[in-house]
Amino acid sequence: MVVIDGKKISAEIKEEVKKEVAKYKGSAGQTPGLAVVLVGENPASKVYVNSKVKSCGDLGFYSEKHVLDENSSEKEVLELIDKLNENEKIHGILVQLPLPKHIDEKKVTNRIASEKDVDGFKPENLGKVMIGEDDGFKSCTPYGVIELLKRSGIEIAGKDAVIVGRSNIVGKPLVGLLISESATVTICHSRTKNLAEKTKQADILIAAVGKAGFIKKDMVKEGAVVIDVGINRNEAGKLCGDVEFDEVAPMTSAITPVPGGVGPMTIAMLMKNTMESFKRSL
Ligand code: NDP
Repeated sequence: MVVIDGKKISAEIKEEVKKEVAKYKGSAGQTPGLAVVLVGENPASKVYVNSKVKSCGDLGFYSEKHVLDENSSEKEVLELIDKLNENEKIHGILVQLPLPKHIDEKKVTNRIASEKDVDGFKPENLGKVMIGEDDGFKSCTPYGVIELLKRSGIEIAGKDAVIVGRSNIVGKPLVGLLISESATVTICHSRTKNLAEKTKQADILIAAVGKAGFIKKDMVKEGAVVIDVGINRNEAGKLCGDVEFDEVAPMTSAITPVPGGVGPMTIAMLMKNTMESFKRSL
């Protein structure tokens, strides 16, 4: 059994991007730029935003952090997005979710210009993932899952992949990406009947449920690869995934831990997408 090291793989990806940034800086004097927008005081969001800005610094990106008051109006947020859409120094715009309740998240994320939607949340970019077109942006977490598999030498083509969770930011884009890699894909959710029967079919099982310890050993096939997207807190307040790691890990051929698995990949792929956007803008 191999514990897939997401920290190491994400560091490799960031290093590759950093080298590319340096190459462009030397020749054209230009730099990829990411704008991060935070509305309100959500403590987890603050941590995420700060680590994204820090990654920008580490890689040599230009970055802007826009922090708006909790009571800002939807109009103010939309006006900021419009300005960032026009700003030539900015190649990627990320609005940290969740937004305060009085602001329509869909309206805000849809306002981001498609060519700067480095989170890959817009319908146009999800659509491109589904039809296998390469000129959009893949949503960062699913993109990270695929990179983790590939860079761990795990064959995807011809494998039975089962995803638990059908959100627009994880489960659904994963369907498109895995099909493009020629897996046979099943997607499960809260209305799925006989869930364990389905998850036990998986050569590659991906959990994106948001419930601590949801995947137990009687749901997993011997020798499967298990990718845990979940980020939860258990009763003791400790960070944990959707998979009951201690009982499941010994029966897998490879598994991601939480923390240190999929989590660090998300930021690495955000950086990669922003770099890609910058290159397209040249
Ligand atoms: P959502 O809450 O949007 O989706 C959860 C999915 O799980 C839904 O499709 C839901 O089904 C399904 N589900 C819930 N209960 C069950 C059940 N009993 N049986 C089967 N399916 C069930 O979550 P996200 O996709 O946004 O996130 C999932 C997890 O991944 C979270 O822990 C989140 O924190 C984490 N995450 C991690 C990221 C990272 O960077 N590593 C990035 C994004 C998310 P239904 O649709 O029927 O309600």
